[in-house]
Amino acid sequence: MSVTVKNITKLYGSQKALDDVSFKVESGSVVGFLGPNGAGKSTMMKIITCFIPQNSGIVEFCGQDVIEDSLEVRKNVGYLPENNPLYTDMYIKEYLEFVVGLHQLSGSRSKRVAEMIEITGLGLEQHKKIGALSKGYRQRVGLAQALIHDPKVLILDEPTTGLDPNQLADIRQLIRALGKEKTVILSTHIMQEVEAICDRVIIINRGKIIADGSSASLTKASNSGELILVEFEQTVNKNSLLQINGVSGVENIQGNNWKIKTQPGADARGALFKFAVDNNLAILSLQKQEQKLEDIFQKLTLENDSKK
Ligand code: ADP
Ligand code: MG
Repeated sequence: MSVTVKNITKLYGSQKALDDVSFKVESGSVVGFLGPNGAGKSTMMKIITCFIPQNSGIVEFCGQDVIEDSLEVRKNVGYLPENNPLYTDMYIKEYLEFVVGLHQLSGSRSKRVAEMIEITGLGLEQHKKIGALSKGYRQRVGLAQALIHDPKVLILDEPTTGLDPNQLADIRQLIRALGKEKTVILSTHIMQEVEAICDRVIIINRGKIIADGSSASLTKASNSGELILVEFEQTVNKNSLLQINGVSGVENIQGNNWKIKTQPGADARGALFKFAVDNNLAILSLQKQEQKLEDIFQKLTLENDSKK
């Protein structure tokens, strides 16, 4: 089920939390909403899940409008809110049965709850009260709650915040698996997260989309050339390195270790090898330094800020 967001603007008083935001998400993908605190991620998710109304613009689930067809839309969407408000005094099973009741699902409640406990890996903890659970397990209860009516669209607001590394790996794996069948939109302020889970990333800053694409294409788009770390066996003259095709900058790190900056789009690695062969030099190591989404994000948000 696709989700279409068209020209959404949201004001809190006089403050614009979202400013003319548009994007479309197709089914069977995991899309990451990446942005710093206050960017407008949670606001966007609340609008998509019918929790708060927008000031203008529309959101549609395969043609169903979130405001006019809100009951239909709610059946199709599972939502894990940011500060997942769980009833801490309830037992896991009790809470999940309560949620099943809210959705008025047909069939056995306890069977559905047992399935959810299985899927989200809550088995060992299932007899506990929610208040007695660690953050990671509470998050699983939140996910179980979001998934219980088998929605086609899943909206997860910072689903991995506060998890320890093992829990993180588990939950990420679960989300990726869910993304194969469902439309998943998750928000995060952690760059590695979108690289680890998402097929596509939408970067949002101060209520506006500033970039949208696969994380690979974003890396490419904002690439101002690459950095190559190379170590020669012999001493090399800096100027001769600078003359290599596609090289735009050279910095000596230490001894025969050099940092080579390349022009955008150039593959200077081939040229470097040729240079070594032509000059009877041996390359001991050669490594491309990947530009992380984190760097790109900083660059994009900085450029965006400086335009103001
Ligand atoms: P994010 O989830 O990306 O951190 P939010 O959507 O929570 O961002 O917030 C976007 C902006 O809107 C922030 O500046 C925030 O302070 C403001 N905001 C969010 N919720 C409210 C609210 N209920 N009332 C007033 N301002 C709000
Ligand atoms: Mg938020």
